[in-house]
Amino acid sequence: MEKIKIAFDLDGVIIDKPPLIPKKLLEKLFRGKSHNGLHYCFPHSKIEQKIRKLSHFYLFRPPIKRNIQFISQLAKDSKFELYVISARYSFLRLETENWLKKRKTKSLFKEIFINLSDEQPHLFKEKKLREIKADIFVDDDGLLADYLAEKLKIKIYCFNKNVDCLKAKNIDNLNDLVG
Ligand SMILES: [Mg+2]
Repeated sequence: MEKIKIAFDLDGVIIDKPPLIPKKLLEKLFRGKSHNGLHYCFPHSKIEQKIRKLSHFYLFRPPIKRNIQFISQLAKDSKFELYVISARYSFLRLETENWLKKRKTKSLFKEIFINLSDEQPHLFKEKKLREIKADIFVDDDGLLADYLAEKLKIKIYCFNKNVDCLKAKNIDNLNDLVG
């Protein structure tokens, strides 16, 4: 039997935001301006990259425990094959590996993809989802989730209480993914 392939975004789904920085400010820093709203800044200067690297140090990024618990249950079920598809840029590779190691979550996934060629996040995720032939994807970015739901014929879920998606399906509990 074909396994059901479920892919998860990292930040906002598995990894929480740093507790002291308002989400609005993070969004402002990380998303550029454009007419359709889907454009993400790549921090080109060394100092910006340093700040981002620091803000991704694992102790500043708490795990989203209930989601990890749920994913751990799924990982035990041979019906499912689990992936991470994160658009974190190449300069965050070590921080990401370190987080997954420290939080003992690496073994839950068949493969973990991050955005090593620094592509636009929505394009990177679209490409990877096609490549692995995912059945389900969960992201916390409403605009991005809607973009993917428009482009791909798979189930796209948005795990974020503060946005209403038009195309993707909003959920606030990962249990709603299956069953
Ligand atoms: Mg995210």
